[in-house]
Amino acid sequence: MITKRFLLKSLASTAAIGLALRGRSALAAETFAVTRTNVEWRKLLSAEQYAVLRQSATEQPYSSPLDREKRRGTFACAGCEQDLFSSTTKFDSGTGWPSFWAPIDDKAVGTESDTTFGMVRTSVHCGRCGGHLGHVFDDGPKPTGLRYCMNGVAMAFKPLAA
Ligand SMILES: [Zn+2]
Repeated sequence: MITKRFLLKSLASTAAIGLALRGRSALAAETFAVTRTNVEWRKLLSAEQYAVLRQSATEQPYSSPLDREKRRGTFACAGCEQDLFSSTTKFDSGTGWPSFWAPIDDKAVGTESDTTFGMVRTSVHCGRCGGHLGHVFDDGPKPTGLRYCMNGVAMAFKPLAA
């Protein structure tokens, strides 16, 4: 039995995800400002960064110091240095991965449907280099209701200058 309240919440969540997806085409059709060959990426990135950013791996939860990062500042792509998330939208999701309720602007990240591992999820990638960052879910806090669940190893933190 689906209650009206649940249905309304689901509809609102679907609308929020729809908004997040709008304006970004599927990854395969996207062109990125920063493009490199796999050989170049391997030289540029650590093995862990390469596995996440270029092969869509997921880091172990609680493994990234960025999960516990509480300072004000900006989280940038570890592949191309594009700013992705502000500390002002970071929250403790309790998942062990750095979590945000919105990207820093609507060009920072793109999304696409991800049906790997028998799940239907929405994966998130850097809007500048296409590097895989994590996934977005519709169980986040207000005001967006979104939870951008990110791999800390795919990002670099830039503290705000005091
Ligand atoms: Zn990038």
